[in-house]
Amino acid sequence: MFDKVLIANRGEIALRIHRACREMGIQTVAVHSTADSDAMHVRLADESVCIGPPPARDSYLNIPQILSAATIAGVDAIHPGYGFLSENARFAEAVEAHGFTFIGPTPQHISMMGDKIVAKQTAHDLGLPLVPGSPGPVESLEEIIALGEKIGWPVLIKAVAGGGGRGMKVVESPEAAAEAFSLARAEAKAAFSNDAVYVEKYLARPRHIEIQVLGDGLGAGVHLGERDCSLQRRHQKVLEEAPSPALNTEQRNRIGELAADAVRKLKYRGAGTLEFLFQDGEFYFIEMNTRLQVEHPITEAVTGIDLVREQIRIAAGAPLGMTQKDIVIQGHAIECRINAEHPETFIPCPGKIVDYHPPGGLGVRVDSGLYTGYVMPPYYDSMVAKLIVNGTSRNECLMRLRRSLEEFVIGGIDTTIPLHRRIIGEQAFIDGDYDIHWLEKLVGLKK
Ligand code: ADP
Repeated sequence: MFDKVLIANRGEIALRIHRACREMGIQTVAVHSTADSDAMHVRLADESVCIGPPPARDSYLNIPQILSAATIAGVDAIHPGYGFLSENARFAEAVEAHGFTFIGPTPQHISMMGDKIVAKQTAHDLGLPLVPGSPGPVESLEEIIALGEKIGWPVLIKAVAGGGGRGMKVVESPEAAAEAFSLARAEAKAAFSNDAVYVEKYLARPRHIEIQVLGDGLGAGVHLGERDCSLQRRHQKVLEEAPSPALNTEQRNRIGELAADAVRKLKYRGAGTLEFLFQDGEFYFIEMNTRLQVEHPITEAVTGIDLVREQIRIAAGAPLGMTQKDIVIQGHAIECRINAEHPETFIPCPGKIVDYHPPGGLGVRVDSGLYTGYVMPPYYDSMVAKLIVNGTSRNECLMRLRRSLEEFVIGGIDTTIPLHRRIIGEQAFIDGDYDIHWLEKLVGLKK
């Protein structure tokens, strides 16, 4: 097992990884920008190294600086968390080339899944169902129009290098294709330095269902059930739950087994997530994330399995500590992503936290780097806390979530706590009756 791990991230996920390391008796090294000197992940870690100025490209995305920090601190392994360098195959390669272990999949699997076209082709070869669409990147307007006529309008233009919903444009009709095509390409170019795009049928009312998987890299693999992440705003997840209120046992077992089978055939190593859209009883693969997800705690809550510990164990070469029959889904869990944003306008609102009182009690977990007096820097993601609640049933979970959201105090900045209170008071949500467009209709972004 490792003696020392460098955590190449910040915020709640850096804390999350630190906690898993601590329980395993592993020393931690935090890295931070000059804007994060007082951050909780720096305070809790055993050691810390400043890796550069505030902009992420100069610090949290600065590969040479991170590798120097790892060398100076003498670590055995590096955990990338999510976001930043977590799905950067070049980083994974450089980590290994410098003699450290990358806590994650192989660079080959990262780049395979990072290219959406290759990912879809691979998924198809593995027997996973796909959304109908272009087999490769689309080069011309004529191609998009021909495809739209074939699979039916509307269609969705997506970036080959996509992520975070960027470079995605819905095209309602052939007349609208030209503008959407150039907008999607420009956005993809700006976000990913790659303007290649492809086309999928735009599903009218799907749910986003994803399967958590673990593989040992040698052909053993399991799934840990699904998460329903249909509550989204601008293709970004806002609230997630496990299990999905929309699946029956047959559907659940079918998609879980397909995902686990894919992991075994790929000889995938570590934790990953296969994302699907689900509509009218059918699943459609959209992508695989080759890292830990923000919403991983709801899976931990219903399985009792520490996913970060499993990632570390697998990276250290230990066999998978479980078989499929050891994994039992119990009860229900919901996560609310709490952002430092106005709950109606969604304008980011970083600033000083003057009062911080997280909820507690049975079945309540708060993952956050906030503390009273903390000054949130404006440079990074606006998510400041995750509230994860579980209970023996969905109803119990909802009752507990309502109580926890009432108790939660984050003073000094605007947060999306009122939005979550509103969501869970809606009858459609209480009934589990929502799709990926539901939240945008609720907040007035969509008709
Ligand atoms: P990204 O990598 O940018 O996050 P994804 O492919 O994971 O892109 O899609 C993000 C979200 O966009 C999905 O969760 C879903 O809400 C929406 N989406 C993606 N593909 C489709 C589609 N074919 N039809 C309708 N909505 C889609």
